[in-house]
Amino acid sequence: MPMDHINAHTWKQGDEVVGQYVFPGRSKDDLPFQRGDLLVIVKPTSDPNWFRARNQFGREGMIPANYVRPRQVVTLHAMPWYHGKISRQEAEKLLYPREDGLFLVRDSNNYVGDYTLCVCFGDKVEHYHIKYEDNKLSVDNEEFFRNLEELVQHYTKDADGLCTRLIRPVAKEGDSFGTVSIQQFRSGGWVITKQHLELGELIGKGDFGDVYKGSYKGQPVAAKQLKDQDRGGQTFLQEASVMTSLRHPNLVKLIGVVIEDTIIIVTEFMGKGNLVEYLRSRGRNVITKKDQINFATDTCAAMEYLESKGLVHRDLAARNVLVHDDGTAKVSDFGLAKFGDLSLSSQKFPIKWTAPESLRHNSFTNKSDMWSFGILLWEIYSFGRVPYPRIPLADVVMHVERGYRMEAPEGCPAEIYVIMKHAWELRPEDRPTFNEVLSKLNNLRSVTV
Ligand code: ADP
Ligand code: MG
Repeated sequence: MPMDHINAHTWKQGDEVVGQYVFPGRSKDDLPFQRGDLLVIVKPTSDPNWFRARNQFGREGMIPANYVRPRQVVTLHAMPWYHGKISRQEAEKLLYPREDGLFLVRDSNNYVGDYTLCVCFGDKVEHYHIKYEDNKLSVDNEEFFRNLEELVQHYTKDADGLCTRLIRPVAKEGDSFGTVSIQQFRSGGWVITKQHLELGELIGKGDFGDVYKGSYKGQPVAAKQLKDQDRGGQTFLQEASVMTSLRHPNLVKLIGVVIEDTIIIVTEFMGKGNLVEYLRSRGRNVITKKDQINFATDTCAAMEYLESKGLVHRDLAARNVLVHDDGTAKVSDFGLAKFGDLSLSSQKFPIKWTAPESLRHNSFTNKSDMWSFGILLWEIYSFGRVPYPRIPLADVVMHVERGYRMEAPEGCPAEIYVIMKHAWELRPEDRPTFNEVLSKLNNLRSVTV
């Protein structure tokens, strides 16, 4: 029976919590769960130690508050001393010149999922096995830590049994964006077991991985599997880590991450695929004005939410908006959000969607997202045409900087074209905010039949 409990009385309706211990349930009113199961609080009861909750199958029942803990956001902490998957020899090479207390952390080679702390002392390098067990990390099975940062912090203050205290880290090169720690996904309650995931047909191809239709505990999901562990792992997990902090009806929801022999990002299944293909395949005869204003408003609502959080998407385009079976549009693809490591020369760079100042000065803001939103509106109202038809890719920037703007697509409402033109003001500060555009779209939606 667990004795420690975390502010049991603070759960609110809608909170997502994760099973920390097995709860078999004692009566038929109870909701049994396993460790790691995700539950949503339905409501408190008169007893502060018991809550009504719902599991992923929709079943409701009573749960003991001290058997669960909150699902946590995975942040990108700067852990310059974390070098990931490097060998023992590479670690020893990096720890030069040998000075007492010089250290780094790497993934354990012998124990998958564990880590190794490498510390210099007296001309030698000690390699300490950091064991991960029961959501905790430990070097000596005496002191336990929730994450690597806490562990490093502890041994920086005091050697506490190690050969020396940690004095100076060997920083990983080129790691200015911070590192995603796998440990954080675990302790945050985001890791799911591959065994619970059934993979079906291939439904899409991404830069880092292929996307499959799947099923997780009976729920339809999309599973994006990383192609090459050694190459895209961090970028791939960055996308998932951004998603852990976002919750909005118009953002594709992260369900969890498989971190085993392969890395898989599991999200809600968007049965109608990406918006650009949806528009192209249905066309004018099927897609109504109402559908178009709905897609525009849904997307804008998601962008307004990102804007309110100060998060920049950087790759907004109809190909990155997905359509749910019920017709709701949701923004996806946070791979570049905030971090962005696309080089401007990259073949894949979405020139036709990118604001002039981003192309010129690598400046990405909510206002440059607004430019892309203008292009996305154009895509919606042209039923998925490629922007700037007839202008060669290499000439687009020049034309745009000289003031050329696309015409309104055939049949596009005047109010929508006004928004597009406004989004394409050359000076970012002259463009509207998503908040402003959202209220205009909402008004338009309410009068569109
Ligand atoms: P990339 O990282 O290269 O941008 P995406 O995440 O855009 O990859 O996925 C590629 C394609 O896979 C999408 O265009 C879409 O057709 C399909 N896809 C991705 N996520 C989902 C999902 N949650 N539901 C349905 N289809 C999806
Ligand atoms: Mg994409």
